[in-house]
Amino acid sequence: MKKHNFSAGPCILPQSVMQKASEAVINFNGLNLSLIEISHRSKDFVEVMENSRSLSLELLGLQNKGYKALFLQGGASMEFLRVATNLLENKAAYLNTGTWANKAIKEAKLYGELIEVASSKDNNFNYIPKNYSVPTDADYFHCTSNNTIFGTQINPFPKTGVVKVCDMSSDIFSRQMDFSQFGLIYAGAQKNMGPAGTTLVIIKEDILGKISRVIPSMLDYQVHIGKDSMFNTPAVFPVYVSMLTLEWLKDMGGIAAIEKINNQKADLLYSEIDRNPLFKGFVAEKEDRSKMNATFNLVDDSHKETFDKMWQEAGINGLNGHRSVGGYRASMYNALPLKSVQVLVDVMKELERKA
Ligand SMILES: *Cc1c(COP(=O)(O)O)cnc(C)c1O
Repeated sequence: MKKHNFSAGPCILPQSVMQKASEAVINFNGLNLSLIEISHRSKDFVEVMENSRSLSLELLGLQNKGYKALFLQGGASMEFLRVATNLLENKAAYLNTGTWANKAIKEAKLYGELIEVASSKDNNFNYIPKNYSVPTDADYFHCTSNNTIFGTQINPFPKTGVVKVCDMSSDIFSRQMDFSQFGLIYAGAQKNMGPAGTTLVIIKEDILGKISRVIPSMLDYQVHIGKDSMFNTPAVFPVYVSMLTLEWLKDMGGIAAIEKINNQKADLLYSEIDRNPLFKGFVAEKEDRSKMNATFNLVDDSHKETFDKMWQEAGINGLNGHRSVGGYRASMYNALPLKSVQVLVDVMKELERKA
């Protein structure tokens, strides 16, 4: 039986997507060729790339609004660098909400002055800073919508006149919002969209071309836009699986429909964390809790051995917290069924009865 997969990333994908993807590896579109052994310039693959790009914009409500979607390589980590290379002329403003934001800041510092508008480092990133201001003369403002490691999530986003850039690696396509507030959104595929190996980048075209730096081709968003995401050989398999996942999401009713289920899953688990005296949540304020990655601890670590054995026996995978936080992290990405969360909650209740 399939495990209840709470892995933080790479992570669970819809079972139907996995089935179709495995078939395409053997015989793609009835061509009697594998998806991964045909030219990326062939009509069948160009269609995959085009569908992936247009479905991304459609699901985010960004069609015909001046945005382009790209599927690039190098992970979200490459976008930390690429964003700064393309947008940072003088200074940039960054919100520091944890490990990933820190890494983005480190890259941007190579190119200009960096203003850290706020940080939650003082409390091991267990909250989202609020009431900060973004300098109006910044080239852009960068934030991380969901902090995969610490289990916090931004909502709402700050209002500012400067271009907003967002790392949405771990919550893209999981909740509704006005995506047109952002000039640039990027997300590594391996958390809510597909296998590792490709990164979705959504760019409002008119924010580009405003800096004086000479940009190497592979780092230049305009080069990738000009070549329809085919400047170099794209990651054909990750792009294909992403397309299947986006089709799966569209068929089930898009982000509005998945958001309802994501809310149910998060409510179910956080209610138990709050009710069960053996557990406590890691995040300080309830309003900052991530609906994708729930971080929690045992109040008394002497239950650890028993609890670990119980969830493993219940068929649960990937529940250990990140080493910088400890405890537990339940990642509840789009493809994780509600019933998997119920299994985890039942184990938590069972531990309470036994303890
Ligand atoms: C996982 C993750 C990253 C890093 O992605 P890579 O594809 O490994 O570079 C960046 N940001 C966030 C929010 C993440 O969750």
